[in-house]
Amino acid sequence: MPSDLQHLVELQRVDVEAARLQSLLDAIPKTLARIESQLASARKRVEDARAALKAGEAEKRRHEHEIQSLNDQIHKFRGQSSGVKNNEQYKALLSEISHAEGEIAVHEEKIIEGMLAADALAARLAEAEAALQTESAEIERQKHDALRESEADQTALEAAQTRIHELRAGVEENLLSTYDRIRKSRGNALAEVREQRCTACQVLLRPQVYSNLRASRDILQCDSCGRLLYYVPENNVVAVAANTSAIAHQAEHEWMFVPSLGSSGAFAVFSNHKGNATMKAYDAVTGEAIARRVEKNALYQSIFAAELQNARNLFVDEAGLEDRYKEQLPPELLEELRHQLPNS
Ligand SMILES: [Zn+2]
Repeated sequence: MPSDLQHLVELQRVDVEAARLQSLLDAIPKTLARIESQLASARKRVEDARAALKAGEAEKRRHEHEIQSLNDQIHKFRGQSSGVKNNEQYKALLSEISHAEGEIAVHEEKIIEGMLAADALAARLAEAEAALQTESAEIERQKHDALRESEADQTALEAAQTRIHELRAGVEENLLSTYDRIRKSRGNALAEVREQRCTACQVLLRPQVYSNLRASRDILQCDSCGRLLYYVPENNVVAVAANTSAIAHQAEHEWMFVPSLGSSGAFAVFSNHKGNATMKAYDAVTGEAIARRVEKNALYQSIFAAELQNARNLFVDEAGLEDRYKEQLPPELLEELRHQLPNS
């Protein structure tokens, strides 16, 4: 891998890490606000319980005051009783006294109800105060943890930024601005290639691009997503080994119908011979030869994987047909191949 590209691979790793740390740090004020709002609601429960108790006491005083003034009235009525002139007046006085006594009973009833309610409110207040105390301690702990984590993130972010600075200094300027441009629009500017695919967009690389990339000659961009491509041989060892061991089991010569070639698909013969992979294709409608590709040091199963992706196996008994019919398949053979397709 070119050394500039090696620096960029490392740079991307550190850039991603720095962005992650930054987003954690950005979230800190929100976390603290959430913690504070938990505490605020615990405080409010205490305040509400205190206010309800206070209102109950005021209500009690109001009833006591009423009772006092009713007693004063009764006292006044009794004082008037010595000066009554007749039975009518005396009866009216007694009725006033009896009415006032009835009202006093109602107020006394209310006072008793209020005292019962006050007991329940006092218990609720004690509970809310205890909860506030527990929550305050818990919230202090959470705040402390959040701040300590943010300090650690801040330190890590500073280290990452120093590293980013160093790495950027080691990359050629044009390449660096390409990296920045792609990173801005795509998130990540680099994509690793595995099994001949760009791992960011999953598109299969053209064989030439793939072999240049593996030869570490140039810094290449994905045709599809535009990301800078890199190739790590160790990450492809398994695939290569699997391919090599598969040679013994794989066919060395195969006729296929390839829907992606020609105007309405093509009949193509794929072969591996002396380390070279060959594909020769004939238009499925006219039988005319439309493509011939030879790739050195390759297996057709991997180098022409794109063509083989939706291809369908055909049965052809006779060997070497492609050598005999270099330009055009004869009509009877074309007919025979077409016959093997579904809906033909
Ligand atoms: Zn891509």
